[in-house]
Order: sequence, then structure tokens, then C-alpha cells
Amino acid sequence: MDNIIDGRLIASKIKEEIREFVRLRKENNKREPMITSILIGKDEGSIYYINSQEKIALSLGCKFKKILLEEDIEEEHLINIIEELNNDEEVDGIIVQLPLPQRLNEKKIVNTISPKKDIDCLTYINQGKLFAGEGEIIPCTPKSVLSLLEKSDVNLEGKNVTVIGRSNIVGKPVAQLMLSKNATVTICHSKTQTLKEITRKADIVIVAIGKPKFLTKEYVKEGAIVIDVGTSSLNGKITGDVDFEEVSKIAKLITKVPGGVGALTTTLLIKNACEALERNENENTNCNGVK
Ligand code: NAP
Repeated sequence: MDNIIDGRLIASKIKEEIREFVRLRKENNKREPMITSILIGKDEGSIYYINSQEKIALSLGCKFKKILLEEDIEEEHLINIIEELNNDEEVDGIIVQLPLPQRLNEKKIVNTISPKKDIDCLTYINQGKLFAGEGEIIPCTPKSVLSLLEKSDVNLEGKNVTVIGRSNIVGKPVAQLMLSKNATVTICHSKTQTLKEITRKADIVIVAIGKPKFLTKEYVKEGAIVIDVGTSSLNGKITGDVDFEEVSKIAKLITKVPGGVGALTTTLLIKNACEALERNENENTNCNGVK
């Protein structure tokens, strides 16, 4: 099918760009990007994710440091570790794997990360900048949605985009990004009435609700573009929010699950670290006059 947006292929192109970025830095005697990822406890999903971050970062020529901490760590101790990383000039990106154990104050801990190194865009400062239209660091899942559209040469200007889902980590930032590209954006959620009528008017439907195969062809106009962010487990298989079999027959372009949005996110996390490194170096040059 030639209407599938291939997330893995687009990820491999972005990986090439990152490799080239690191290669050029080394050629100019500059250091590699360095990412640190903090994991508290032994959650299996988080261990899998942190290992995959490490594998991709190293394969792209970046440095990566895992900080594995015990489940019963004191909040002050964790905050001290993050502050040390904030002050370490050789660290460009800091990731804290969420969720944290319930007894820890997640908001306080996350907002200890320096906004300049917050490559997951978890701090209030970076989220505020994003919603002010001045985002420097874009969170990876929304950035993946935008990259899939842009690398498929979709011009968003003036398009009717409907985003289904309004979470702080996906729906709202996706909608904001689409707005920043001059799309006309409608945000829907579980209390939206006449959802089908709204989505059938959209040129682009982005769905992030966590309901397997929810979006059937009745929700989509012929020739629309459909981006599926959902990842749920259905009969032991990772399944998206879109009924792919049906909708792929009428969509102009469509993503698959797996192999769509999720295929890019870790690569984009590393890209955020590369961009942070460049931005912070340039800022230092501007402030001090020398570097
Ligand atoms: P979430 O926090 O649970 O939010 C779900 C949103 O969907 C809410 O805004 C909810 O509305 C809305 N919703 C639920 N049922 C609906 C319905 N029947 N009609 C319309 N709207 C409905 O989930 P999330 O964190 O945003 O994640 C959404 C999905 O994306 C999940 O499957 C998650 O696993 C996946 N995800 C994938 C990636 C990736 O890299 N591929 C990354 C992050 C998340 P209300 O606000 O009214 O409750």
C-alpha cells in the first residue's frame, strides 16, 4: 500500500541526520552529545525503555549514562542528583523516567531539571514556552506526529486538523504544534458531542485516546490523512486507536501501529539532546563572548 506513512523509514532518515551532526562535531574537535536517564525502581516497562534509549543513543555516536536508583530513595537525594547533572557542563539532556513511586513529589522533582536540559519537555517552563508559541524543546510524541507529516510533505497551513484526546502529554501539545503551523485546529475529548460530524470535516485526524480500533471509517472523510498515536494491548498485540483495515482503504495517508508515531519517539529524544547542546553552546557564546 503506498498510502502508509512509514515511521521506521522516517526514523532512519532522522538517525542519519543525527549521525552526521555528531560526525561533524568530532571533526571539529567538539564533544559528543551526552544524555543521562534516571530510573527509580525496577518497573519492567521503564527498564525496557531506558535500555532502548541507551542502544539508540550509542548507535548514533552519542554518550549515554544510566542512573539506576533504589525504589526507597530519599526525595532530597534525588533532587541533589538532578542538580549535579544540571551543573555538569558535559551533560546535555536529563530524562527522569515516569511515573515515579507515589510517595515522591513528581512535580517538584521534574521541575528541578534545568529547562535547558529538559529534553522530554516535562518542566512547567518548557511547557509554558510551548503554549506561548516559543517552544525550544518539543515533547517527543507530538514532535513525532509533526515529523511524520512534514517528512511526508504535508502542508499544514489552512488545513482543518481534528485532534481527538486532550492529555497534557499528547493531545494538547499536538494541537498547539498544529496551530503553530497555521492549521485550523479542533480538539475533541470524551465529552465531545457529535464527534463523527466533527471528524468527518477534518483534512487531518490525529487520534490519541487509548481505545483500540475506535476510529472506524464512519469517522473519516475520503482522502483525509490519519495519524494514530494510540498504543493499547489487544489480544496480546500492540494496537492503535484506528481501525486500520477499514480506514486505510479511504485515507490519503495513514500511519500504522506499530511502525508509526512510536517508531520515532526515542530517536527524537536524542535529537532534542543534540539541539539542546547546540543551543546552549550558542547561548554561552552570546553571553560570554567566547567559547
Ligand atoms: P490519556 O491521558 O488517557 O488521555 C486520553 C484522552 O482521550 C483524554 O483526553 C480523553 O478525554 C480522550 N478520550 C477517551 N475516550 C474518548 C472517546 N471515546 N472519545 C473521545 N475522546 C476520548 O492518554 P494519553 O497519555 O494522551 O495517551 C493516549 C494514547 O496514546 C494511549 O494509547 C497511549 O498509550 C498512547 N501514547 C503513545 C505514544 C507513542 O509514542 N506512540 C506516546 C504517548 C502515548 P477526557 O479528557 O475527556 O477524559
